[in-house]
This record gives sequence, structure tokens and C-alpha cells, in this order.
Amino acid sequence: MLIKREQGFLQRFYLLEIFTGLVITTKNWFFGKNITYQYPEERRSYSARYRGQHYIKVVNGVENCTACMLCPTVCPADCIHIEAGERNDKEKYPVKFEIDILRCCFCGFCEEACPKDAIKLSNIYEMADYERRVYDKDFLLIQRAKK
Ligand code: SF4
Ligand code: SF4
Repeated sequence: MLIKREQGFLQRFYLLEIFTGLVITTKNWFFGKNITYQYPEERRSYSARYRGQHYIKVVNGVENCTACMLCPTVCPADCIHIEAGERNDKEKYPVKFEIDILRCCFCGFCEEACPKDAIKLSNIYEMADYERRVYDKDFLLIQRAKK
């Protein structure tokens, strides 16, 4: 049931509400905590669980990936493309490893599925670019240094 309340003179013109709002704004202005980051001088630190730009882990100078194709299989965005090759010691490795980053939804499934702990998502969040990027193997290997 709708109950109609009687409004007083001040309430009818919202004067009290405007004054209360101004008091709160002024209080926050002078005494409130500053919540704006002065980027890029000030950078926000993200949680360790943050999933940012990908990189490929390197162990003993070679990429840890054995081109098992698990990550492109689980990727819901179908954005990983791998071409496998074979080294002299018969170990498989990715000749081509590409991630179409605009299609990626940063779900982290590739990282979770990888049995070699080779594909990782770093805490790098600055990924803006002027053109569509497909991360190739060289780029993904270099990214580990920035992590
Ligand atoms: S984070 Fe998700 S969408 Fe992005 S490449 Fe990995 S599995 Fe695919
Ligand atoms: S990154 Fe991991 S899951 Fe993907 S192909 Fe390489 S070893 Fe397999």
C-alpha cells in the first residue's frame, strides 16, 4: 500500500538535502582520503591473482612449452595458435606460438591447463596499442623479463 507522507516547507524545496549534501562534499574535499591515482607516476598494485599479459616461461635457456596443444584446446576464445616442431633430441617445441590478444578474455584457462607451467599470465596491465596485436613467440618470451 502506498503511503503518502506530508512534506514540510524545507523538504518541499530540498533545501535541507542540498545543504546536507554540500556539507558531506566539503568534508570529503578537505578531510577525505584521496582515492585518485596520479597515473603514470603512481601505479596501483594489483592482487597476486590478477591475470594480465601472457608470457612463456623459459627453463635452462629454452621455452618450457612442449607444444602439447592443451592450451589452444581449452581456450574458449580460440585465440592461441601453435605450430609444433621437433628438436634434435626428439623433444617437441612450438615453432610458432601466437596469441590473438584482442580475442582473449583473460580467463586463465591456458595457464591452468598447461602441464609444463609454460604459459603464464603476468601482472602487466598496460596493453593499450594503436593497432591490432597478435603476440608472437619472440614477444611472449621477452615478456617474462618484464614480469
Ligand atoms: S586467458 Fe583464456 S582466452 Fe586468453 S588465451 Fe588463455 S585460455 Fe584463451
Ligand atoms: S604452453 Fe603448455 S599447454 Fe600450451 S602447448 Fe605449451 S606445454 Fe602445452
